[in-house]
Amino acid sequence: MEKIIPDAHPAQPDDCDKDNGVVDVSTKGASVKICPISGWTVQRRPEWTDVAFEQGFTITAEIIGNGILLTHNHGRATIEGVRRAFDFTDAIIDQYLAQRPYIHILDYSHLGGTTLEGRRYFIQHMLQRQQLAGVIFYGLSPLLRMSTKLGKRLNIIQFDVHIAQDYMDAVSVARGLLESVPGHAIDDKTPSAHFADAYLSKDGTPHTVLRRDDWIFEQEGFSIRYEVIDGHILHSIAEGAFEIAHLAGLIALREKVYGSLSEPQGPHYIIADLKGLQRVGRRARKYYQDAILTWHRKVPLCGYIVYGLNSFTAALTNFSRFILPFPVKATEDLDSALGMVRQETEAAGGNGHREDASSLVSESRSSAAADPVEHLLEYIGSIDWEQDGLSLTKDVGENSSLRPVYDAISVIKSELDDLLHEKIKAETALKTARDDLDARVRERTAELIATNQRLQAEIAERREMEAALRASEKNYRDLVHSVNSIILRWDAEGKIVFMNPYGLTFFGYEAEELIGGNVVGTIVPESESISQRDLKELMLAIRQDPDRFRNNENENITRDGRRVWVYWTNRAITDADGRIIEILSVGNDITGRRHMEAELRRLATTDSLTGAFNRRRFFQKARQEFLRHQRYGHPFAILLMDMDHFKKINDTHGHPVGDTVLKTFVDTCKRIFRVTDIFGRTGGEEFSAVLPETEAANAARVAERLRDRVMNSRIEGGTDTRPIQCTVSIGLTSLREDDVALESMIRRADKALYDAKRTGRNRVVQA
Ligand code: GH3
Ligand code: MG
Ligand code: MG
Repeated sequence: MEKIIPDAHPAQPDDCDKDNGVVDVSTKGASVKICPISGWTVQRRPEWTDVAFEQGFTITAEIIGNGILLTHNHGRATIEGVRRAFDFTDAIIDQYLAQRPYIHILDYSHLGGTTLEGRRYFIQHMLQRQQLAGVIFYGLSPLLRMSTKLGKRLNIIQFDVHIAQDYMDAVSVARGLLESVPGHAIDDKTPSAHFADAYLSKDGTPHTVLRRDDWIFEQEGFSIRYEVIDGHILHSIAEGAFEIAHLAGLIALREKVYGSLSEPQGPHYIIADLKGLQRVGRRARKYYQDAILTWHRKVPLCGYIVYGLNSFTAALTNFSRFILPFPVKATEDLDSALGMVRQETEAAGGNGHREDASSLVSESRSSAAADPVEHLLEYIGSIDWEQDGLSLTKDVGENSSLRPVYDAISVIKSELDDLLHEKIKAETALKTARDDLDARVRERTAELIATNQRLQAEIAERREMEAALRASEKNYRDLVHSVNSIILRWDAEGKIVFMNPYGLTFFGYEAEELIGGNVVGTIVPESESISQRDLKELMLAIRQDPDRFRNNENENITRDGRRVWVYWTNRAITDADGRIIEILSVGNDITGRRHMEAELRRLATTDSLTGAFNRRRFFQKARQEFLRHQRYGHPFAILLMDMDHFKKINDTHGHPVGDTVLKTFVDTCKRIFRVTDIFGRTGGEEFSAVLPETEAANAARVAERLRDRVMNSRIEGGTDTRPIQCTVSIGLTSLREDDVALESMIRRADKALYDAKRTGRNRVVQA
């Protein structure tokens, strides 16, 4: 069962006036109700009147203009009643206020109480109303006012909430709110100007207010403005510090205002608004009272009602009520002051009864004294729950039995203020943190966007690069496929990874035959010099000194066993750790060049006519052999050979025949000498030979055999039919211990040859 919190609002008579001064204006025969404050039309319907939502809770709804829903709440409500009431008002809003911003004014003057759940539901529901531009309460009990203000201050009520004094205040606040809502068209179809000078009491009583621009006195920090209400009430609004110097001006103004009144409409009253009155000088007070008394004698006053008192002006009022001959009463505000005047005039008119001055004042005082609880509640209601501090505007009786309660309230209020300060501090810190976070998120987001843009740019760039790479790859592929060079990739084990078409054709292989095979045994001939082990060493060597192996010439072998020479350019392909994974070798066929080089070499070292070593080559080799044999003391022989009477052969048969004779001689020599013997043409018709590892006797036998063979050889092609016959003389010597250079042996052999010539030719002479 929900607990209804009793509303401590003073009990209201049930038949109270709910009309709020709304005026029925007849326009073209139709009855139109007009709100005196806004001038807007007021819609009321029987089905909206006194609608019950639960036992003892009713609502009367009305719509003002096109933006205000007003509900008068009666009785005590639980969550059920609140829920049903919202269903009811939501339907009205949806139908009559459509999708526009609206204000909900709640008249709580007759609300007896609500449950906590009901209030929570109320807040939740209001939060969900999308078009709700504000909520305005009036007639709040002190407890509800307190809880509303606390709710605002604690930020529990997150929609725009206002607490108004009364209907008029509520409507004018609502109008202000609606005007500030963008795009909200204020209904100005109905006239409002003729109520501009109207004043509507809380209880709904309309009053006329007469105001003039010249009804104001203003001088050196003090001002007073007069209005005439309902033709017989002089309403003064004082501000600043009132001094004796101001008195004359003030009296003159009052005379002027009074003089301008037409027929007096009833007993005269003065209602003074002292809210803005800061100070009254001592002498000014005395002379003012005198002036009032004088005036009272001229125009009898029925009462003097003051409102907006502070403790100082309250004291002044209390003093004056003993001096002034008419009732002096202090009250809350203009509204209640007007209410008092009305009560008095009605009482006077109806019963002819007049209360005396002292009773009027004492009633005002004693009512609070008589009901200390009432006073306490009013006191609670007057506490400014939205601000710090305790405003003790009310007189708190020193001797009141509830004094400890007042003290407790002030303690609670100050504790609450402290708590709220903590809360605000925490909220501010949280907000700062959140703002910081937001800023960081924004910063980070901006960074991310920038990074993303950078990435996008990079991706685009990479795509371009990839396209360029693909194009370049294709170029390379085309190049590799069409180039007239061997392109070979082989791994660290010597396995062939790739070979281009030219290479395959060059070596005579199909790709599948070659790929995976080892270089050794396929394109590199397996010989004693190159083996798998050597290859590993080669890899190591390449790693240690890649430059040395950058270029090399190899004799390779084709599939059909042909020896080919290839000039290789090698490049090691390494991994991140510098390990050789592959070797890229580009090879060019240099077989032709190698053959040419060999031919050139041959030509440079041999005699073109006979094919024997030429003189330079012969002596080069002879010298090598000499040194080798001399070092080890091995036997070694030299032969110098000279054709006999060769001049005569030439002369007789011609030079070409002489050439043939020379060639025939060389052929003969080749047959006689061993392959290890070195033989060369050392002059025109002079020849030399060194015979390694040959004793003198053996050398002599070789020389003799040669001489004999030459002598017996017959050469065709002479000038006559007889074959040509020629002989050779040979000087021979062998290595002696005292020979330190080849030249000494040559000299001996030469002398021996000379001797052979001298002694008859066609003979071998040994020295
Ligand atoms: P000897 O028995 O004293 O050696 O008499 P010889 O005529 O052989 O001696 P000589 O040195 O006077 O003559 C050598 C001749 O060899 C002269 C030269 O014309 C000839 N001769 C040298 N080189 C060539 C050659 O390449 N071809 C031909 N046909 N004759 C050559
Ligand atoms: Mg000669
Ligand atoms: Mg000769």
